[in-house]
Amino acid sequence: MITTTGLSKHFQDHEVLKGINIQVAAQDIVVVLGPSGSGKSTLLRCLNGLEDISGGSFEVNGIVVDATASRRLRQQATRNIRKQSGMVFQQFNLYPHKTALGNVIEGLITVKKLPKEQAVSIGRKLLDRVGLADREEYYPSRLSGGQQQRVAIARSLAMEPAVMLFDEPTSALDPELVGEVLSVMRELAQEGMTMLVVSHEMKFAREVATKIILMADGHIIEEAAPQRFFEDPQEERTRRFLRQIN
Ligand code: ADP
Ligand code: MG
Repeated sequence: MITTTGLSKHFQDHEVLKGINIQVAAQDIVVVLGPSGSGKSTLLRCLNGLEDISGGSFEVNGIVVDATASRRLRQQATRNIRKQSGMVFQQFNLYPHKTALGNVIEGLITVKKLPKEQAVSIGRKLLDRVGLADREEYYPSRLSGGQQQRVAIARSLAMEPAVMLFDEPTSALDPELVGEVLSVMRELAQEGMTMLVVSHEMKFAREVATKIILMADGHIIEEAAPQRFFEDPQEERTRRFLRQIN
């Protein structure tokens, strides 16, 4: 579903991604770990077309973005890729002047051009799916952080993405609200969604991931199934990372 080949990205002379090769198969849950500044967010932003890549190529659900292609072709591919992937950020970025339901149906009306009635019906189902059926008329300011993040997930799902990208979706939440967001993500995983998740939630990584990737300093250090990653890491850099978080 996602392949990157020698993907690189620099900002001026600062090389942030130094030739990244990853593969995410359909229904994989890949959790990306790594210290702050290692390039995790930049990788996700490249995959979602929020950053232009500097070198290499990547593919999402059959759409290829190649750094050597013309700018016009790259932009065209990037536009198509945005339709394939939903992204959930640390900050929920909901429209403050729209209700929970209003936020979820916004893209259905403006992008998918669905009639309001149909959008509302889909929006209600999605709010129900993230456990917020009784909050559809609430504005973001009256929702907890965990509820806002669940609305943001429902809003992404409304666009029927082939893959979901999560960038530290629980890092801005009070500890008691982390669980409700992770359990929505667990359910999505169980339903077969393909997910690439940057997170520091080790329990989630261990229990839900099909594969763990450790990034540091723009490189992939190690890639392994969770049990092997946590119990028998092959790289010294991985062992050091695991010691620091424990
Ligand atoms: P992570 O998500 O792993 O913490 P990031 O991808 O956010 O790492 O950042 C990796 C590096 O890229 C950092 O050194 C950061 O300062 C730099 N960086 C990220 N975005 C930009 C940008 N728009 N302009 C310049 N440097 C950036
Ligand atoms: Mg980040």
